[in-house]
Amino acid sequence: MSHMNGYVQEASGQAKSHRERAVDCPGDESSLVKSPHSSAHMERIQHYQEELKKRREEDSRGKHDIDPNASLRLKKLSQNPKVGIDNPTFEGKEKVTKDTFLQDPVAGELRGEEGRTELAELLQALKWAHHCLTDAQSQQDVELIMQLLAKEDFKNAYTIYIAVSQQMTRVIPTSPLTAQAEDLCQEVQKILQSSQHKEGLELNALLTNPHLQAHDSVAGQEMAEESLTQYIGETVKLVRLEKARDTPLGATVRNDMDSVLVSRVVKGGAAEKSGLLTEGDEILEINGTSIRGKHVNEVHDLLQQMQGTLTFLLIPSSQIKPAPHRQTVMHVRAYFDYDPSDDPFVPCRELGLSFQKGDILHVISQDDPNWWQAYRDGDEDNQPLAGLIPGKSFQQQRETLKKTITDRSPEHQGRLWYAKKNKRQKKKSTTTLSRNIDYDDILTYEEMSLYHQPANRKRPIGLIGPTNSGHDELRRRLLSIEPEKFAVAVPHTTRNSRIHERNGREYHFVSRPGFETDLAAGKFIESGEYEKNLYGTSTDSVRHVINSGRICMLCLHTRSLQVLRSSNLKPYVIFIAPPSQERLRSLLASDGKTPKPEELKEVIEKAREMEQNFGHFFDATIVNMDPDQAFHELRRLIDKLDTEPQWVPTSWLC
Ligand code: 5GP
Repeated sequence: MSHMNGYVQEASGQAKSHRERAVDCPGDESSLVKSPHSSAHMERIQHYQEELKKRREEDSRGKHDIDPNASLRLKKLSQNPKVGIDNPTFEGKEKVTKDTFLQDPVAGELRGEEGRTELAELLQALKWAHHCLTDAQSQQDVELIMQLLAKEDFKNAYTIYIAVSQQMTRVIPTSPLTAQAEDLCQEVQKILQSSQHKEGLELNALLTNPHLQAHDSVAGQEMAEESLTQYIGETVKLVRLEKARDTPLGATVRNDMDSVLVSRVVKGGAAEKSGLLTEGDEILEINGTSIRGKHVNEVHDLLQQMQGTLTFLLIPSSQIKPAPHRQTVMHVRAYFDYDPSDDPFVPCRELGLSFQKGDILHVISQDDPNWWQAYRDGDEDNQPLAGLIPGKSFQQQRETLKKTITDRSPEHQGRLWYAKKNKRQKKKSTTTLSRNIDYDDILTYEEMSLYHQPANRKRPIGLIGPTNSGHDELRRRLLSIEPEKFAVAVPHTTRNSRIHERNGREYHFVSRPGFETDLAAGKFIESGEYEKNLYGTSTDSVRHVINSGRICMLCLHTRSLQVLRSSNLKPYVIFIAPPSQERLRSLLASDGKTPKPEELKEVIEKAREMEQNFGHFFDATIVNMDPDQAFHELRRLIDKLDTEPQWVPTSWLC
């Protein structure tokens, strides 16, 4: 199982350790981290840097072994007058190879250069001193020092020292020692008022100097900014995250041999908001606790115990970070149920987002094509952290796999996480069906957009439900109460017209061959045969009602759904679900019907099946507990289309 998501690599025999773990900590500000620049801390940093240097030297040695052009390139570089290595001697070569442990080779070279220049100057001074000294003992002492300075290990250690001390001197003086500097100042000035001592006068002058106040306010600002990030040399980064009480950290870690790496930064968490943790950063320490060699589960547990400000000591990812770009949010409708607790592939279960078929999801990151980051519609406000959902092609891959397996078992053949099509639909799909639906028959997500119906072109309303769920009665009631607002599409038939019927009013009377040609051309939403005559509703008839400014009321079969969706009529589909068996019995009884218990059961079973297999195509559901209540709910939903935009497949708007 060397796996699709790239995190599970069983080849190394460490499948578990390659999984990610969400790391987080509850936001309690009580244990703020004190200044991390203790001498022990700096020693540890130096240790990390030396280790890193070794690792990188090993790496680069390996690279040189397999790179036959490396020495050629070096030679070429040395011959370039702009680079200024005018003598490709051992000295020049050393500079290139030995300094490669620095993260940024250019900056590293410069900083290394700085340390080496100082050393060269010191050597010069010692040579001069040696020359001036007359006694042999002193000359020997100076020689010893000169030998030490010439050692490569010493030169490297000195380079690190320079880098660290530069950072220290830049940061430490800006830290204010007290928050009441001004009060203290005034107090001391009062005491000094009567002093005639030279030192007292001098101190008084210093304390009245406006530069001091300026320093305090600048230092205050620097302290606030300092909670962000500091580079210690080029190799180690110190990151401090101030995490608000209600904001989770939102990062995952994974093991890579002994290292613990930031694996994923989730949108909406403190880590993402700060922009300071990057995928691929190696965590060396958290709040002074060494992390190398720990399993991700230990890191998770450790962070759970920690509270408040978090200080990370990191080796920044060596991967080049792509320039930050504004992510565009993609809205999708899910065509499958997803439960991360039941998914062995989710890289981090705690961060998985569960959803149900038909849910609208806002996908905010597809950086990892296998695991997108998303919010469920409506959850964005109370759920700060995005969740992981399977990416489209990843899901398609495994659904294909599942399909292959379940297709073989007869009891699973009706399962609807993929859409079966009949021969005619399959043929049609190549020409007119939406490409979102026709993707290897696997339905995963469909991209959605908000659509607000124009006042003069109302969306047709499709009512769907099993026989006896009451959808037909609801439609009739609407048509009879407001005929000027609601209308039906005039159907086509091949039967002869009756005496009172007018072509285009009750039916469009057409010849059988004409009907069949239109049917083959996909012009009907639905059709059927009754007593050797064909009947059907055409898309043109529906369009005619829409163009008249009225709302077209349709009663749909499930088989009409796909055709209707690809017709560009933008239907709004409402599922009319039956109530409980007992309630259904009493409703039908009040209409003078006396269904058998098994017939009632069948209605409910049919509704369940429809919902399971086509539920993702329904825009709304009304449970018909009471005809009046259901009618009011239907009116409310229809009116809402005038006042609120609705999610529709993006392909409808192209
Ligand atoms: P009639 O010929 O008496 O008007 O209708 C005969 C049957 O055709 C009725 O059961 C009616 O429901 C059905 N029918 C009428 N219009 C349509 C239609 O557009 N499509 C389908 N499938 N059946 C229809």
